[in-house]
Amino acid sequence: MSTLAGVLGFPAAHSRSPAMMNAAFGELRLDWRYVALPVPPERFAETVRALRGSGYRAANVTIPHKLAAAGIADELTDPARAIGAVNTLSFDEAQGIVGHNTDAGGLIDALGEPPPATALVLGAGGAARAAAWALREAGAEVRIWNRTASRARALARELGVSAGSGDAELLVNATAIGLKPDDSLEGIPLVDARVVVDLVYGSAPTPIVRWAEERGARVVDGLEVLVRQGALSLAFWTGCDPPVDVMRRAVVQAASSTSAQA
Ligand code: NAP
Repeated sequence: MSTLAGVLGFPAAHSRSPAMMNAAFGELRLDWRYVALPVPPERFAETVRALRGSGYRAANVTIPHKLAAAGIADELTDPARAIGAVNTLSFDEAQGIVGHNTDAGGLIDALGEPPPATALVLGAGGAARAAAWALREAGAEVRIWNRTASRARALARELGVSAGSGDAELLVNATAIGLKPDDSLEGIPLVDARVVVDLVYGSAPTPIVRWAEERGARVVDGLEVLVRQGALSLAFWTGCDPPVDVMRRAVVQAASSTSAQA
């Protein structure tokens, strides 16, 4: 029987992760099958426990379950513990449910170069936590801005970085702005950064990607971050070298047929 894995989200039906992961497993000639698992929040814990007893070896976790996944794990890797959110689970006979976070490493890999010295992270949810932690760990001076300023202050305090807006060489959008193509950027501190990462993605360039491209900034889009976090999850589960180009092609193909996230 194939080894089973899946992505737990709500919604999850339009996730690009099955296309991306199944393409990778095919390329690696691994007999794994990866499916979308839509699970409402109130059923998350029981579902994870049931998966563990039903032949599943691994799972990704997306909105809205990343904090709950950190709570349910028997063991957390160092990044997952420090970030307080989990996007990758493995089910292991000896260790039980192991929680890991590859959103952080995925962002750094997607940058493809050492992070600039200064970074402004927009948002204070799970994605912003991972981004701010990853950039701080990589040596950047990080500021966190959020629509609800008190959340930015609390996260900044927790991570030992600054809160509020300010000039930066790297701008990371980790808010939900851009999920709708006509989202307004009014009130968002779009600073004059030379590198712009938008974690949000859709079937068309997001408003922040369009804004950054018009200014001539180097742009890293959310699909590239998705591919890189998926590549790190796959390596964590299998120990194999992830076929990043194959995964990217699968995600882009899936992206042209849907506009959903994760
Ligand atoms: P989350 O925990 O729900 O946080 C949402 C954040 O967006 C909060 O900071 C919220 O601010 C802010 N926000 C929502 N609507 C806004 C608006 N109209 N104007 C300004 N700020 C707004 O979500 P998350 O898990 O952090 O994810 C954030 C985004 O990153 C999602 O779109 C997700 O799909 C994307 N993401 C992408 C990847 C990838 O691999 N590419 C990975 C992870 C996440 P308040 O605190 O004021 O509500």
